[in-house]
Amino acid sequence: MGNYKDFDSALIHGGISSDPYTGSVNVPIYQTSTFKQTVPGDFKYEYSRTNNPTREALEALIAELDGGSRGFAFASGMAAITAVLSLFYSGDKVLISNNVYGGTYRVLDKVFDHFGLTYQMVDTSNLKEVEEAVTEDVKAILVESPANPLLTITDLKAVGQIAHRHNLLYVVDNTFMSPYLQQPLKLGADVVVYSATKYLGGHSDLVAGLVTVKDKELADRIAFLQNSTGGVLQPFDSFLLIRGIKTLAVRMERHVANATAVAEHLQNHPAVNKVYFPGLLTAQGYEIHKAQAKGPGAMVSFELTEGHDANRFFKSLHMIQLAESLGGVESLVCHPASMTHAAIPYETRQKVGITDGLIRFSVGIENIEDILQDLDLAIEESGK
Ligand SMILES: *Cc1c(COP(=O)(O)O)cnc(C)c1O
Repeated sequence: MGNYKDFDSALIHGGISSDPYTGSVNVPIYQTSTFKQTVPGDFKYEYSRTNNPTREALEALIAELDGGSRGFAFASGMAAITAVLSLFYSGDKVLISNNVYGGTYRVLDKVFDHFGLTYQMVDTSNLKEVEEAVTEDVKAILVESPANPLLTITDLKAVGQIAHRHNLLYVVDNTFMSPYLQQPLKLGADVVVYSATKYLGGHSDLVAGLVTVKDKELADRIAFLQNSTGGVLQPFDSFLLIRGIKTLAVRMERHVANATAVAEHLQNHPAVNKVYFPGLLTAQGYEIHKAQAKGPGAMVSFELTEGHDANRFFKSLHMIQLAESLGGVESLVCHPASMTHAAIPYETRQKVGITDGLIRFSVGIENIEDILQDLDLAIEESGK
């Protein structure tokens, strides 16, 4: 651990930031499965599923950035979430935000249900609804804020208070914010999970998941589950993720500036019905988000007016690309109704605001004039 004060410096020097064996400024890729022992049991590292120096550097870094006692790196965000959900037993129940990431919903609905772990979706932006959903069998609350795709805000501190009053484990998926913008462990979360595939990696070139925890005993249980279930991040990907994290501050600043410009531009656009962005004064939960996060993030969702065709919009884009995922340096759009949220029935989608004209935009760090120009031309084409 370093002795610098600022988060931006910790991104670069935090955790184990150079190689203790060679002095190499960057932690090398220890591409090995196993480690030599002199006599049985005499080792620093034993086997790379259990521990690997490159992964260990990344884990120390994320723990420091989140203010946790320990961090864990997994092969994907879903491997991380799966390990955390493996803390529970048959008969337990987890409350989840009703607009939680589709994969989280799916692993609970189609995998953990085999083992008798149940879930209930609640509108976590409504504290009364959260409180009322807590029954004897509820053991945890899993929240995302802002949540996909309408950027719904949940009061993270307030839900934490409900969770702790009832002795529940409080898990926050902080993927959309990254530790640069929001630090849930400091707002009362027991566990924070990330799809590091998104902003932490930042370059759309790897799939990874991270977990941080405060409590040491809980850290030991997660370490046991990480080693037992085995969905660990490989040394090369750990290296790439450390490399990505170094520029998180500068990337996020530009992401936020560009997204704010995009949201304000779309808000005044005659072919746009609605804009969802936590940085707009009119956004749901604006004040709450402002109090718990350092910035609005860079996800903007918007709805084209009647007569504008989403497919024509996508086809007419030149620089901005249509793809799943988010949080990379390049601008990506997606169509929640047919892509990320296609599994939700049509009527339910309408009710919660995921209309066929809704477009989710992960605003990249390209030149803002280029982004706005591409957007405007495609919106114009979509109305022809
Ligand atoms: C992408 C994502 C995940 C899943 O992460 P993978 O790295 O794709 O496994 C979980 N939560 C949120 C909010 C995500 O956006």
